[in-house]
Amino acid sequence: MPLTTAPAPEAGTRARKEWRVVPSVRLDGCHDVIDPEGVIYGTYASAAQARATCSTRQREEDRRARVVTRPCMCCRAPFDSEGPHNRLCPLCRRRSDEPLEPQRPYIEARGRG
Ligand SMILES: [Zn+2]
Repeated sequence: MPLTTAPAPEAGTRARKEWRVVPSVRLDGCHDVIDPEGVIYGTYASAAQARATCSTRQREEDRRARVVTRPCMCCRAPFDSEGPHNRLCPLCRRRSDEPLEPQRPYIEARGRG
């Protein structure tokens, strides 16, 4: 029998998956971070820590939600693009960060006397 009971995501639903912080049901005075599926991700002693974890996970969740597979503008290889601004695969992006020409160190001319 399969253990997973989560329903398959419906096609076309673009509901934002939300992480939240709730008072812990297991430990008094602690805080649970709940993932979008309603599963406890972790229990934290301090609310600040729980909120920090929650917002980090939420950012990752939002980033994942935007990811689509696109062909790289440079080498045409499909890659996980984070948005319309992201058109180069990680390999080509790294390459484009490098200077086109090796930079020569600038040596200041020193006047004599
Ligand atoms: Zn590429």
